[in-house]
Amino acid sequence: MTPQSPAGASVPSNDAGHPPLSFGHELPPEDSPAPSKGTIRVVQLYPRDMNIYGDWGNALVLAQRLRWHGYTPELLEYNVGDEFPAKVDLIVGGGGQDSGQLVIQDDLLSRESVLKELAENGTPMLVICGLYQLFGKFFKTRTGSVIPGIGILDVETHGTDQRLIGNVSVSSPEFGTVLGYENHSGQTTLGPGVSALGTAAKGTGNNSNDGQEGARYRNIVASYLHGSLLPKNPALADFLIRTAVERKYGSFSPGAPDDSYAILAREHAARRPR
Ligand code: GLN
Repeated sequence: MTPQSPAGASVPSNDAGHPPLSFGHELPPEDSPAPSKGTIRVVQLYPRDMNIYGDWGNALVLAQRLRWHGYTPELLEYNVGDEFPAKVDLIVGGGGQDSGQLVIQDDLLSRESVLKELAENGTPMLVICGLYQLFGKFFKTRTGSVIPGIGILDVETHGTDQRLIGNVSVSSPEFGTVLGYENHSGQTTLGPGVSALGTAAKGTGNNSNDGQEGARYRNIVASYLHGSLLPKNPALADFLIRTAVERKYGSFSPGAPDDSYAILAREHAARRPR
């Protein structure tokens, strides 16, 4: 478990004037002098091995939106072999190659009970692609090896020779239009214990048969969408934040997030071809 840089640390800019989005793992700079309404501990699962197509951006968005809402983010990362952090308020996990999934599989299985307990207790979680698959029952890869999952989600995934790649637009009853990018060979089928995140209006989503994308169970949002997902989908980010804050503090008082970049990103993503 590695603590991130302390709140308020300055983040070096690159030539474009933006903070680096690489493995620097710096938090965005503090920009509100108001007293904090409370601290939310966000744990990112396996960022070393499961973090492709910008999935780390989801953690950055949660940190920044927590600040905009007046709360203090505490961003921790959990990698293979680490001690599992206590008092977790929110969990986020990314996608990975089949090889990355093989690297984490034993450690993930050893964390099955703590993650199950957190999930059943209603801890908000966002799991993307490779971790979505391994939060399910299993992922049988294209070459026939079975990577067991931790079975929190009633889903199973079978690798195929077809890679599902491209931009995706999802109609979600809870979150409206969800926009992102998919790249996976595994095809996931939902069991009766979960519902879909939504229906794919553009792109494929869970599999090439039923038009569904992602899964919902308790306060878990599972999705195939990278991009990263949360910068373009603030409604989803705020669901995770609101749920985490309400569980910890009883009620959530929203701040005034700056959605201007999210709106631009959504307009741009919606215009992209498949
Ligand atoms: N390795 C998995 C697959 O190809 C997950 C890929 C991903 O996380 N993008 O299905």
